[in-house]
Amino acid sequence: MDEKLESVFWNIQQRNLGETEFIQAVKEVLTSLGPVLAKYPKIVEQKIIERICEPERQIIFRVPWQDDQGEVHINRGFRVQSNSALGPYKGGLRFHPTVNLSIIKFLGFEQTFKNALTGMPIGGGKGGSDFDPKGRSDNEVMRFCQSFMTELYRHLGEYTDVPAGDIGVGRREIGFLFGQYKRICNRYESGVLTGKGLSYGGALVRTEATGYGLVYFVREMLAARNESLEGKTCIVSGAGNVAIYAIEKAAELGGRVVACSDSCGVIFDEQGIDVKTLKQVKEVERLPIERYCKTRRHARYQAGGNIWEIKCDVALPCATQNELTGKDAAALLNNGCIVVAEGANMPTTPEGIERFVAAEIAYAPGKAANAGGVATSALEMQQNASRDAWSFEFTDKKLATIMKDIHDRCLETADEFGVPGNYALGANIAGFMGVADSMQALGLI
Ligand code: NDP
Repeated sequence: MDEKLESVFWNIQQRNLGETEFIQAVKEVLTSLGPVLAKYPKIVEQKIIERICEPERQIIFRVPWQDDQGEVHINRGFRVQSNSALGPYKGGLRFHPTVNLSIIKFLGFEQTFKNALTGMPIGGGKGGSDFDPKGRSDNEVMRFCQSFMTELYRHLGEYTDVPAGDIGVGRREIGFLFGQYKRICNRYESGVLTGKGLSYGGALVRTEATGYGLVYFVREMLAARNESLEGKTCIVSGAGNVAIYAIEKAAELGGRVVACSDSCGVIFDEQGIDVKTLKQVKEVERLPIERYCKTRRHARYQAGGNIWEIKCDVALPCATQNELTGKDAAALLNNGCIVVAEGANMPTTPEGIERFVAAEIAYAPGKAANAGGVATSALEMQQNASRDAWSFEFTDKKLATIMKDIHDRCLETADEFGVPGNYALGANIAGFMGVADSMQALGLI
């Protein structure tokens, strides 16, 4: 890390004690910024970095709700409004028992740069709760969402803060949240949430966007090396929203996706993952992935297995943070993997990133490679604002163009700063500069 940034980083660590994920995300970005400070010394004077690392607002609240037996439960709700220099705060809500302030802060921090990379007028934020929707009935999930929104609504608005989904928050949850917002505010404000159902203001392609966008990004990475996805063996961790649509698009573009996973285990299907069966198990029945092998009998399931030990050309981590360690990175490299692109946020540990960068394979960080989700959310906001609804093909084309633009910007920035091919550095600098430019223009905010 640049000398000037060491004391800045030390102060950030002291101010955010125990927030390991947040500190990890900050360190990863700050490590890239040395060359930027040399070129633009005003950034130091104006304390842009210190300001970006302090969220504009952090909201923590109680979420009481009753289960189907009438028992009362208390969860904790969060919304971290990280940065609004580029537009209203924008970023998903995560419902998962591991959620805490550190995780939401790291996600909001990353989101700020990701949103800047899209080139769209959206700031960064993130939220969620330690509520676990797994095994809960639809009515329980609805009651939880209603209670959550009863507190959160006062901090939202289409010009203020626009949440979407993330882990544990899909169409069902967004519907309940939107219904409660509408009821409390007495206003049909479609632009207040994205990822909505099509019957009440949702947009085509939003469901597929993060996974499809990730694969469009991979297509560009391969093209930059005069390669294509055709015939490449791929593995995708996770079996949720991002993973399923990454698998679908990778297969459509000629890739052979042989494995995916969930929080219980790994499935290996030599004939290629059958997306229809996967959707039935994970989206419709909401069952553990093991169930896939009941339909596809030749497929193998390994409880608690490590997907990164499977030989592949392309690896797409699409589950959660820090799921791919230094050891996993070494296994992938030993097995000849040439592309790693992150569908999840911060899935690779710092040791893993170091190995990929040192090996000079094509490695793309989540803030660039998974930006298709939020970009399509911004397209949903555009459609809501103009009371319009675009076709699937039109929106999908826009998504592909956005991903190509992000890809090219990362590479151009990496070239400009003397590290050709380094997507991680390119994404960090390009994202940071987008936010910093706007903060400089807006005065001391
Ligand atoms: P989902 O809840 O739809 O799916 C998450 C998947 O990851 C599930 O299959 C889950 O397993 C699995 N999983 C969770 N923890 C682990 C673990 N420790 N080991 C193995 N598998 C695990 O979430 P999303 O697909 O929406 O999100 C996945 C990632 O992508 C997150 O990092 C999110 O922040 C990021 N992201 C999501 C975007 C979106 O548009 N949804 C946009 C940009 C980034 P199980 O089924 O057993 O719960």
